[in-house]
Amino acid sequence: MQRKNAKQESVLELFEEEGGLTAQAAESVSKKTGVPEADVWAAGTFYGQLRSEGSRTGVCQGLSCKIAGADSLSLSFNQKGDEIESVSCLGLCDQAPAAHLAGDPNHLPTSSTWGVVPNNPQLPMNLAGDDSHAGEALERAREMGPNDLIGELEKSGLQGRGGAGFPACAKWQAVIDQPETERYLVLNADEGEPGTFKDRELMLRRPNLLLEGLAIAAEVIETTAVYLYIRGEYQAAATKLQSVISSNPPFLNGLSLRIVRGHGAYICGEETALLESLEGKRGIPRLKPPYPTESGFRGKPTLIHNVETISCIPNIVLGGGAQFYAKGLTEAGTKLYCASGHVKTPGVYEMPLGVCLDELVEVAGGYDGEPMVFSPGGASSGFFPISERRRPLDYTNLAQAGSMLGSAGVVVLNNTVDIAEAALWQSKFFEDESCGQCAPCRIGTRYLYRQLDQYLSTGDPGALDHVDDVAWEMEQASICGLGMAAAKPLESARNYFPNAFKLRNAQKR
Ligand code: SF4
Repeated sequence: MQRKNAKQESVLELFEEEGGLTAQAAESVSKKTGVPEADVWAAGTFYGQLRSEGSRTGVCQGLSCKIAGADSLSLSFNQKGDEIESVSCLGLCDQAPAAHLAGDPNHLPTSSTWGVVPNNPQLPMNLAGDDSHAGEALERAREMGPNDLIGELEKSGLQGRGGAGFPACAKWQAVIDQPETERYLVLNADEGEPGTFKDRELMLRRPNLLLEGLAIAAEVIETTAVYLYIRGEYQAAATKLQSVISSNPPFLNGLSLRIVRGHGAYICGEETALLESLEGKRGIPRLKPPYPTESGFRGKPTLIHNVETISCIPNIVLGGGAQFYAKGLTEAGTKLYCASGHVKTPGVYEMPLGVCLDELVEVAGGYDGEPMVFSPGGASSGFFPISERRRPLDYTNLAQAGSMLGSAGVVVLNNTVDIAEAALWQSKFFEDESCGQCAPCRIGTRYLYRQLDQYLSTGDPGALDHVDDVAWEMEQASICGLGMAAAKPLESARNYFPNAFKLRNAQKR
């Protein structure tokens, strides 16, 4: 039984200090925290990075890395005698094929080969802009007061940029409306959707903008407790933010900001799984309701937002909600689109929300080869044929077409890619990253991957006879978005490219 004053929240951090998960470390963490050893062990085993802390070279298996030669990269490491492991996604799709070298915690390359929109002060986030002047927006927010500020947020039409697209003003209002005065602000910087690397660039290039957005949000919901949950692979971003926090900029006065590192579990990007992880437990999504705005971190009202959402706040405060809204094409504001795969200049491009694929790729240097298919919002969005290239990349249009904008991780594939193989890679990702809490997702992700693998191995379409039923079950009965979306890559690929799933020659695998 857990001691009354057990320090569960410290469990994962202590494992990190101990150098990862070993029997000795579990015993030590249990003694230090008062959490039973079995619970400590259960928490630690959930996280990939704790299981293999820095001991092997991780080769990224994300879609952009696979088409850029991840398998050849693995082979070359093997030939050098390096011990390697396959990792789901490193958030380096613009640097594909990517690898995390053993013993190198700071693996973000310094290469400047990726693309960005040139400095333009009219852009709310303006990745190429000057980040040195901060504090003005917080002063203005104080003059406005919470009610006027939320009014501007409503006019701005800002939707959560992490993937769900929920109106930001509704979340802020829901927290303020809680009678409980112990409240928390949590930054979700655990971006892990394959194809997505925009928050990485915001943290590296505009840390002051982001931190000022957090200061404004903390002021409005009347808290001083701010947690920044940063994905484990983004060491450079965490270091950057910590250096700004440590320099004590006046706009952070009175705030307690704490950086907490993720440990390599994609599911922790789901907000309630993230909160569980922040509490030192396995990152398993909670049943909703209650929502975090009512019962979040430590069971208290919590405002949890993605990095990009928070980074839009200073511009809305200074320029007003209406001007932010007007920057969009089909929906409000600008959006950071990640472009990778078969485009000439992969990168993060801030563009009006609602541009189409052709407009995005034009800014990203053009198509590399003959485009055949694209994934508009990461693995969870499935695939679209290139004939959809004029469809607005926004929340509503993509949802109406059975897909999603998600975190806008756009990956383009040209006609050299076998779409069935691409669906297999995406299915493998979901099988690896399912938290296992609910049966439809736990069993379904494994089933889909195995059947597709069997089809490609034998060339017999009969292997796919029952995947539609399983996909339906997963969509209807999974607890969280992972299970609901996990069949999308296979289902969309079969829907748009039926010929790719007919009788074919067996593949040597
Ligand atoms: Fe976990 Fe999958 Fe269920 Fe989500 S849907 S709670 S990831 S098992």
